[in-house]
Amino acid sequence: MVGLNNNSLDDDPTREDLSRPPSALSGPYLPRLVMMRGPDVGRAYSLAALPASIGRAPSNRIQIDETEVSRRHCVLCDVAPDSGALAPEGHLWLCDNGSTNGTWVGDVVVGRAGVLVQDGALIRLGRGVIFKVSLVHSIEDQLHDDLYDKAARDALTGAYTRGYTEGRLRRDIALAVKGGRELSILLIDIDFFKRVNDTLGHDAGDQVLCQVKNTLERGLRADDILGRWGGEEFLVILTDTSQSAATALAERLRASVGRTPVPYRNKGVDVTVSIGVSSTGELPGAELHELFIRADRRLYAAKANGRNRVVAVDPADPAARSRA
Ligand code: GH3
Ligand code: MG
Ligand code: MG
Repeated sequence: MVGLNNNSLDDDPTREDLSRPPSALSGPYLPRLVMMRGPDVGRAYSLAALPASIGRAPSNRIQIDETEVSRRHCVLCDVAPDSGALAPEGHLWLCDNGSTNGTWVGDVVVGRAGVLVQDGALIRLGRGVIFKVSLVHSIEDQLHDDLYDKAARDALTGAYTRGYTEGRLRRDIALAVKGGRELSILLIDIDFFKRVNDTLGHDAGDQVLCQVKNTLERGLRADDILGRWGGEEFLVILTDTSQSAATALAERLRASVGRTPVPYRNKGVDVTVSIGVSSTGELPGAELHELFIRADRRLYAAKANGRNRVVAVDPADPAARSRA
């Protein structure tokens, strides 16, 4: 067995000095917050740029849509705002902004003057939101992002899962209401999909699902959320999008799916989709359930009217019809 020569390793100038904690703001280690409890469990937020404010208002770097979190709850920084003291290497200041429900590090109440936190510290906002401060190597940082993204995606198509999509929709509706902006959704269902399975087999059906997802994705903006809502149903979240703009987009998506046959065993399988559109602009309260019910009812109307079409208005609601 070959012995390790410790002296020669210590003399190696490229070897990292493991006795010193890595600085929070330099080197290959990246400071981040990971949500341990709260509306987005597992989500990591980079702290590479400071200060990083945390709160309910959309203007915060880390925005949390929880009523017990104050609009501007607390802030993480390298220089304490009151004293001007610089955080020592490997540490950050956590300062409360006069929040209603308080900020804690472990059992210590955090005031405006701030408390020093370091790798592993548990930060609690109110009773229900907990973050862990985590100093991770850039490789682990990427791994964490990849794992979070993978868990949020459907294994077959790569679209977002229903659970993730629903959470995003709830948050995006709240942000749209607060910001006075309009949000629209598209509920998209593949027409006669069962026939594909019955005539060509389940593999062909799977291929159709994947290609439809890819075609839809190509027609969307990078920020739009495409979720697999059920077997052959997709839900698209369009932020900052009026009902008329969403309807025009739905029409483009419908047309592009219709002119893109799915290759399967040297054949092209023709596929069409039906789409129901609804928008927060139609609803005074912008309630998720009602938004979804409208899109679903219109999708059903698209099916009943012959499929391969977009329905954006509710025939039973003359007010909606006149607005569209
Ligand atoms: P419509 O035009 O009214 O929407 O008819 P449809 O045939 O598309 O709808 P239906 O609800 O009758 O059938 C949906 C089928 O989707 C039934 C189910 O077996 C199939 N399905 C659901 N998930 C998957 C999947 O992951 N892969 C495949 N290949 N089929 C799936
Ligand atoms: Mg369906
Ligand atoms: Mg269908």
